[in-house]
Amino acid sequence: MSRFVLVGGGQVAAVAARTLRRRGYDGEIVVIGEEPHRPYQRPPLSKEYLAAGDESALDLLPEEWTDTQDVEVRVGTRVLKVSAADGAVLLDDGSSLAADAVLLGTGARARRIPGIDGPGVFHLRGREEADALRAALTPGTRVVMVGGGFIGGEVASTAVGRGAEVTVLEAGPVPLAMAIGPRLGAACARLQQAAGVDVRVDTAVTGVRREGERMVVSTTKGDLEADVVVVGVGAVPNVELAVDSGLDVDSGVVVDERCRTSLDRVYAAGDVASHSHPGLGRRVRVEHFDNASRQAAVAARNMLGEEVVYDEPHWFWSDQFGHNLQHVGHAAPTDRMVVRGDLDDDVWTAFFLAGDRVTAAFAVDAGEDIAVARELITSGIAVADEVLADRSADLFEALEELA
Ligand SMILES: Cc1cc2nc3c(=O)[nH]c(=O)nc-3n(C[C@H](O)[C@H](O)[C@H](O)COP(=O)(O)OP(=O)(O)OC[C@H]3O[C@@H](n4cnc5c(N)ncnc54)[C@H](O)[C@@H]3O)c2cc1C
Repeated sequence: MSRFVLVGGGQVAAVAARTLRRRGYDGEIVVIGEEPHRPYQRPPLSKEYLAAGDESALDLLPEEWTDTQDVEVRVGTRVLKVSAADGAVLLDDGSSLAADAVLLGTGARARRIPGIDGPGVFHLRGREEADALRAALTPGTRVVMVGGGFIGGEVASTAVGRGAEVTVLEAGPVPLAMAIGPRLGAACARLQQAAGVDVRVDTAVTGVRREGERMVVSTTKGDLEADVVVVGVGAVPNVELAVDSGLDVDSGVVVDERCRTSLDRVYAAGDVASHSHPGLGRRVRVEHFDNASRQAAVAARNMLGEEVVYDEPHWFWSDQFGHNLQHVGHAAPTDRMVVRGDLDDDVWTAFFLAGDRVTAAFAVDAGEDIAVARELITSGIAVADEVLADRSADLFEALEELA
C-alpha cells in the first residue's frame, strides 16, 4: 500500500491530510509532529486563546476525524532526515518509515534577540508559550512588547484587554512600515494609541537586567521598568530537516510553483517554503495562515499526481484593538496608493496600483474591499482610481460592470 508522510503536524499537515482524503487517496497517511500536541492552529494563540485559554478553537484534526479517516497522528516525534536514496523518513527514535511521498510543513519558530531572555521574557509561537504568557498578563502588569509588527499589535491588544499597561517598542520610525508602508503603519499605530498603548518608535531594545524584584529594559532611548517583556520580532524557518536531507534551501526550503522541492517526491509548503510564485515572478516565503492552507492543498494534489500550480495572491488578517485588518497581494515600492475613506477614521482601505491594475490592498474593518481587491488582482481587470476612492460606490457592482 502507498504511504504519504506529512511532517510538522501543523496547519500544512492538517490541510494536506484533509485534501488527500477528500480527493480519494486511500493509502496510508502519517502525520508526524515534534510538539506534544495533536495538530492545532496558531492564530488564536495571540488572540482569543491568549485572552481566555479556550482550547476549542485550536483543534485542526479532531481525533474523531482521524479515526474515521484512518489517518495516523504521531506527536512528540521529530523527523531527522528524508533519505535521498529511497524517500524513507528517519525519526528521532531511531526508526525509519518508508514513504512514497513526503510533505515538509515544518513551519517557523520565533526569532530571538541574543541577551533578551530569562525570567519574565516571553516569545510566542506555541501553546505552552501562550499559556505561560497568559498567566503573566494580570491587571496592572507592565508589559513591554518588543516589536511593532502584527503579532506585536495582537499581543498588545490582548494584554490591554487583560488589564495590562502596554508599551510597544519599535526599532524603526513607524510600526509596520516594512509591511504596509509608513502612512498605513502610522494609521495602525493610531489604533493602538487610541487604546492607551504607549508606542515608542526609533527605540531598539539593547538589554534586560534584573535589579532585585525589578526588571529593567534598556533601549537606545533609555531604560524602562517592566514586569513582562514579550519579544515579537519575526520568525525563523525550521529548515534543519531540509538541510540535513540535502534539499535546496535559501530563505526557506526552495520549492517550485507546484510545491516540489529539489528532491523527487518531496514537497514543502507553508511558513518554511520559499516558493516560486507565478504572479510575482520570483520566490517568496510568507508566514500566513491562508498561504499555508492553500499551498498545502496544492502540494497534496500534486502528491496525487495532479498538476496544480499555487498562484493565489497572498492574504492575511490580523485582529487587534477591536479592529479587523486584512491585506492581499504584493505592492512594489513604485506602486501608487489610492485610499478609500480617511486614514484618520476607523474604517478605510488602501489600494495599490501599477498603472490601472491593482497589485495589493490593505483594509481596516473593510474586508469586503479586500475580496474585491483579490478579484481585481487575479483577473487583472483595469480600474480607475476614482472608482476605488469613491466611498459611495458599491465596489462589487463596479467589479461586475468592469468584468
Ligand atoms: C501567535 C501567532 C498568531 C498568528 N496569527 C495569524 C493571523 O492572524 N493571520 C495569519 O494569516 N497568520 C497568522 N499566523 C501565522 C500562521 O499561524 C502560520 O502561517 C501557520 O501556522 C503556518 O503553518 P505551518 O504548517 O507552515 O507551520 P506551523 O503551524 O508552525 O507548524 C509546523 C510544525 O512543525 C513542527 N516541526 C518542525 N520541525 C519538525 C521536524 N523536523 N519534525 C517534526 N515536526 C517538526 C513544528 O514544531 C510545528 O509544530 C500566526 C502565527 C502565530 C505564531
